[in-house]
Amino acid sequence: MKSSRIKIFALATTTWIMLSGLSTAGDGIQSHLPNQAATITLSSDAPVNGSTLLLEIDTPKVSPPLMNLQIQFDNQSIPLLQHPIRPDNAFFGMVAIPLQAKLGPSMLTVAWEDSNGKHKHSIAFRIIAGSYLTDRLSVDPGKVDLSKTDLARVKREKKEINRIYASGSMQRLWQGLFQLPVNSMVTSAFGNKRTFNGQLRSYHNGVDFRAPVGQPVFAANSGIVKLAKNLFFSGNLIIVDHGTGVFSNYAHLSRINVEPGQHIEKGQPLGLSGATGRVNGPHLHWGVKLNGTYIDPLQFADVIAALVGTEAG
Ligand SMILES: [Zn+2]
Repeated sequence: MKSSRIKIFALATTTWIMLSGLSTAGDGIQSHLPNQAATITLSSDAPVNGSTLLLEIDTPKVSPPLMNLQIQFDNQSIPLLQHPIRPDNAFFGMVAIPLQAKLGPSMLTVAWEDSNGKHKHSIAFRIIAGSYLTDRLSVDPGKVDLSKTDLARVKREKKEINRIYASGSMQRLWQGLFQLPVNSMVTSAFGNKRTFNGQLRSYHNGVDFRAPVGQPVFAANSGIVKLAKNLFFSGNLIIVDHGTGVFSNYAHLSRINVEPGQHIEKGQPLGLSGATGRVNGPHLHWGVKLNGTYIDPLQFADVIAALVGTEAG
């Protein structure tokens, strides 16, 4: 006689969720595994704050099938997307672990349905502290203690940007690897605490590359330009929507060569590096936002590289 137990094993960074129809003792659970299991693999069981955790979900064609599979982190649903390499029987999801995330034990909640009803389970992992430094920067005092007019402008721009980040395409516009926007040395890593003229003002929400004024800046992947204009802090800024919750931004440019609404290809020149906005010298700032959270762009690119493997792009 068949029971409808659900067995969940956690082993290293992989959690197997075995769905209904497992047989009673004597029949041997193992014989049913290949046909009855959905496998969820996390890219790490101890991601650092400010990083991207990748989920890969393999769902061999089962009977009864998995339905309404949902994964949540911190009350946020993680979009599940068709796997680039195994499109017929696998999905992937990208979890942004905020820089300000609570360190220590954390979990993903997995919910699904089958003919036996609704099921819920949690996958435990730990968030560990990234080794972030402090950058001490000297900038124009007018860019630290803002005038009333500038403060009003900053508020307006923040609203505009938040609107853009809240309205991304759910279609995957990116393909293959994310490439670096310039081929140059990193001068300031993601996540560093930043003091401007001695005052702690922010955490570095992107990565800075050495770039003199006038060096071409290339799109990290294909997408749609959502913003291309001058902002108080970011200077000349381009924001690209890559779909599926992924945006990239390119700041402090001396020149912008694209327009909002424009479809761009990976590697397409977007503009020229510069020293506009709140800077202490010319460089390129590159940021990546995932599901509303800034994460380390270089680690994100590495995680995607592991996911896409040989996918053309
Ligand atoms: Zn920067």
